[in-house]
Amino acid sequence: MKMIDFRRDTVTQPSAEMLQNAFTAKLGDSVYNEDPQQLRLEQLSAQITGKDAALFLPSGTMGNLAAILAHTRRGDEIILEENAHIFTSETGGAATLGGVSIQRLYGPDGLPDPMDIENAIRQNDIHYPRTGLICLEVSHYRYGGIVPPLNKLQKIRQLSLKKNIPIHLDGARLFNAAVYLKTDVKKITEQVDSVMFCLSKGLGAPVGSMLCGSISFIEEARRYRKLLGGGMRQTGWLCSCGITAISRQNISHLERDHENALLLAERLNECNGISVNLSAVHTNFVIVNSTLPEEKLSSFAEYLMSRGILINRPKNGILVFVISRELSKEDINSSSSLIMEFLGPKQT
Ligand SMILES: *Cc1c(COP(=O)(O)O)cnc(C)c1O
Repeated sequence: MKMIDFRRDTVTQPSAEMLQNAFTAKLGDSVYNEDPQQLRLEQLSAQITGKDAALFLPSGTMGNLAAILAHTRRGDEIILEENAHIFTSETGGAATLGGVSIQRLYGPDGLPDPMDIENAIRQNDIHYPRTGLICLEVSHYRYGGIVPPLNKLQKIRQLSLKKNIPIHLDGARLFNAAVYLKTDVKKITEQVDSVMFCLSKGLGAPVGSMLCGSISFIEEARRYRKLLGGGMRQTGWLCSCGITAISRQNISHLERDHENALLLAERLNECNGISVNLSAVHTNFVIVNSTLPEEKLSSFAEYLMSRGILINRPKNGILVFVISRELSKEDINSSSSLIMEFLGPKQT
């Protein structure tokens, strides 16, 4: 039975083209900057984000942490949206290894309000930590891959320049955001000092993330990558997958993921007991609110499982469906039909 997997966008398998390119790649020791694929991937990533340099890392978590370490000093405070991945899902690395404290701000569209950021930036006073960094996240993972308006990001940028505090962007799904905004990714990245993006999510590479920024910043981050154990020697196979992942053609596949997310959202909205706010489906996530009783919801999840459909465990009546390139339009249609069969049509 073919499994239809709505749990994550990290379930993607490398394409035949990706594997073909990878296994014919020539390898070298990347710790000594001798892996041709890694050098090429870093160069292309810098170009595509409009930065001067880039670094390949084993994970997005390490990319964000290396960025925080490179931007701040121990004892600094960093500003984050309250449900940012760096706070919720990165094992407290910023505090544990970076010695920074975190100030979290409310930002239901994904970005904190520029005024709140301004108020959160510390005055120069011996009672206060120094504000060392503003970290932003686009698209926002916990809020279902939503993308805030670009002009809000621009306002935060003006503030950051005025106050001389750098911005790091957790752009795990940076290209999903650019596709949603129908804009060149540089329109986003020119608003920040550094950016991390994942190769291993919707772009379909098996492993890896990129960190991009100025030459001096990347030099510093390179030291921290080594410190954190991210000097990986012959990375050429992985980096070759990354090169295929960031090709224009591959990035354009994300459009189809977003179309599929919207299709799924519309179909699920026709079912009884669940609803989706269509205007919040920006990229490859569908957040489903349910009014079904708890038992019905868990039997729903079991029913789907028995039909080969994998979903995230419902939490507080909310189900999160994640779309990836592993899913075709037919998969969306067949699974939403099964869901309709179980729940029945919406009573109006
Ligand atoms: C996945 C993710 C990361 C971290 O990436 P890993 O490669 O899983 O460590 C960081 N930020 C966001 C928003 C993510 O979704």
